[in-house]
Amino acid sequence: MKNYKVYPLFDITIEKGEGNYVYDTAGERYLDFYGGHAVISIGHSHPTYVTSITEQVNKIGFYSNSVQIPQQEELAEKLGVLSGYEDYDLFLCNSGAEANENALKLASFQNGRNKIVAFKNGFHGRTSLAVAATDNPKIQAAVNATDNIQLFELGDLEGVKAALATKEVACVIIEGIQGVGGINDPGAAFLEGLQKACKETGTIFILDEVQSGYGRTGKFFAHQYADVKPDLITIAKGMGNGFPIGGVIISPDFEASFGQLGTTFGGNHLACAAGLAVLDVMKAENLMNNSQQIGDYIISQLKDIKSIKEIRGKGLLLGLEFEDSVKELRGELLKKYKIFTGAATNPKVLRLLPPMTITKTEADIFINALTDLL
Ligand code: PLP
Repeated sequence: MKNYKVYPLFDITIEKGEGNYVYDTAGERYLDFYGGHAVISIGHSHPTYVTSITEQVNKIGFYSNSVQIPQQEELAEKLGVLSGYEDYDLFLCNSGAEANENALKLASFQNGRNKIVAFKNGFHGRTSLAVAATDNPKIQAAVNATDNIQLFELGDLEGVKAALATKEVACVIIEGIQGVGGINDPGAAFLEGLQKACKETGTIFILDEVQSGYGRTGKFFAHQYADVKPDLITIAKGMGNGFPIGGVIISPDFEASFGQLGTTFGGNHLACAAGLAVLDVMKAENLMNNSQQIGDYIISQLKDIKSIKEIRGKGLLLGLEFEDSVKELRGELLKKYKIFTGAATNPKVLRLLPPMTITKTEADIFINALTDLL
């Protein structure tokens, strides 16, 4: 059997990660300015993280019956404190798409409606419901979701309001800052307008913070730059620093009942060990603050470069938009300067999602390389 090839790859095989660097099979070192699509939050192989997972494996092996183990309560409690959502509940699952699938389902259970409002250039994952909310008409048609989904431009509040006024829409789902689509910030005023429209029409307001959450923007969630408190918040990626874990953060207006949601693997012992280590390190090393400071520093150093049309995003969730495709630029950064960066569905955007542990010296390595190339 061979693997089903769905990813474009560089001809490099990474076999080791340490701090903010990864190493290939020939021992070459690369600065990681992409963090596996925002997955690496506390750096590669952080000692606290490795110890937490190793100790857990030694205790219980890979036992994965995850139903309401005590570690889940500890994780929920710590997450509540660090994120400012102490009065919300946490449902644990395995990935971002699964978190969104559960959030969309919860919304529908809550108000009995089945339509979804989402946004152009948005991305919410690849399961059938999550993909329906993703801006890709071909896939929406394939999962027969075109009748139930309405996509609006970011900022089109009047359009969304008209859709919600029908009272047929179960939920509005929006990213705190669009990631895959090219780092597009909806802005505080738009999020606040959406929340108000949702409240007035009994529509559930879902913030997908799978990529923009977990401290990366300088606040725990990107939406915390606005005066909003969503009904549901979805998380994954940076939550486990590479270990698969996701979750839905659920407002107290929802009432849990047995069988309403469920999963075999979600929130298993190892996932909790990974998730707890991430939160402990984020707190101990003040990583949200570091994200903010290094992000601001990168912006300040790049903002006067003429060939960069626009710098978007916050903290360490940044998109640099150029006049043309960044394919060659990314290739050169990797080949010549040994720096990994990311692409977006907008081919003119260079996506930067380094670990939140990145230092000013490492930021300078990237800034100097980019400046040299430009
Ligand atoms: N939501 C957002 C905003 C994402 O960026 C992604 C993945 O890139 C997902 C959901 C899906 O997450 P996963 O790949 O863990 O299913």
